[in-house]
Amino acid sequence: MSASQNVVVSETTRSSIITSSNNNSSSSPKPSTAPPGLISISKKKLLKNLDVINGGQRINAWVDSMRASSPTHLKSLPSSIYSQQQLNSWIMHHPSALDMFEQIMEASGGKQIVMFLDYDGTLSPIVDDPDRAFMSSKMRRTVKKLAKCFPTAIVTGRCIDKVYNFVKLAELYYAGSHGMDIKGPSKGVSRQKRLKQSLLYQPASDYLPMIDEVYRKLLETTKSTPGAKVENHKFCASVHFRCVDEKKWSELVQQVRSVLQEYPTLKLTQGRKVFEIRPMIEWDKGKALEFLLESLGLGNSNDVFPVYIGDDRTDEDAFKMLRDRGEGFGILVSKFPKDTDASYSLHDPSQVMDFLRRLVEWKQMQPKM
Ligand SMILES: [Mg+2]
Repeated sequence: MSASQNVVVSETTRSSIITSSNNNSSSSPKPSTAPPGLISISKKKLLKNLDVINGGQRINAWVDSMRASSPTHLKSLPSSIYSQQQLNSWIMHHPSALDMFEQIMEASGGKQIVMFLDYDGTLSPIVDDPDRAFMSSKMRRTVKKLAKCFPTAIVTGRCIDKVYNFVKLAELYYAGSHGMDIKGPSKGVSRQKRLKQSLLYQPASDYLPMIDEVYRKLLETTKSTPGAKVENHKFCASVHFRCVDEKKWSELVQQVRSVLQEYPTLKLTQGRKVFEIRPMIEWDKGKALEFLLESLGLGNSNDVFPVYIGDDRTDEDAFKMLRDRGEGFGILVSKFPKDTDASYSLHDPSQVMDFLRRLVEWKQMQPKM
C-alpha cells in the first residue's frame, strides 16, 4: 500500500467542499440531516477529490482547511456568512436539546437511558493548551450525579489516563483513544460486577509500538515548528496546531506527512485545530458505543435509549451508529450549522451542563420502581 493511500478526512475541508459544490448536481443530498443549501458529500468522493489535488496544491488544501478551523478565524466569523434561512433551516433540523427536553424525555418512553459524553469541547471548553482543558468542578459534580442516575461513559480521542486525570470520576466507563481502549467503572458497582465490567478492550493493541515510534518521530520532526504540540494517546497520536503561526502551517503539514509516508497502515485526519493519527482499523467511536452497550447487556435490547453528546467529526460515527440502530439520538455541540447525523444541538459546554442537570432532575422526579 502506498503512502498516498493514507486516508485523509478533514472536518473543515469537508465543509469547504460542501459549500463549494452546491451547484454540482451529481452530489447526492442527505435530506434527513442536511438543511437545504448544504449538500453532503460522501467520504469516498471526498477522498477522490483530495486525491486529484497533487503535491503543493494538496498541501495548500490542508492549509486552507487548517485556516478555516483555527480559533481566531472561528471567533471572527461573521454570523452573516450563513444566510438567516440556512441558520433557521439548520436549527429546524437540529433543534436545541434544551428547548426539546420534554419531547426527548417523552421519546425515551421509560427505556434505560445510557449517556455517552465526548470530553474536549463537550465537557470542557476548547483551549489553546490541550493539557489545560480542565472541566469545571460544577461540571464534574453534574456528571457525578448523572452517573448515579444512568450508566455514563466518556468517549474521547485522548488516552484513558489523560482524560481520567481531568474527569476524576471512577464510577464512569471510559473509552479512550477514539474508543480503542475501553475500561469499565472501578467504583459504584458491586465487586463481582466490577470484575466483570473492568473490561479491557483494545482492538488496536498490535499498533502500540508503531504509535509510540510515530509519536517520537513527530516530536523530532515538528520541533522546528514553534507552537506545534505532539501528544501520544497510546493507540493514536495527535499534532495540535492552534498555537502555531499561520505562516508555519504549510511547513507543519509537510512535516507530519513526511513522517506518515512511512506508515501506510495509519490514517491522518483533521479535527478542531488538531491532526490525528490513528490505526487504519475498522474501529471508531460508533463501534465503541456499540461495544459498551453490549457490555452493559443492552446490545440487543429494545429497552435502551442511548444519548451521545459530542462536538467533533469523530463523534459523527457515534451519531450515525444511533441513527442506523434507530435507538436514542445524538446531540451535536456547535454554534454553527454543520452537516451532522446528530438529531439535536447544544451551543457549548455550559448548555451541555444545563442539559445534564435537567436529566438528573427529571430522573429524580420519576417514581421509584
Ligand atoms: Mg470533542
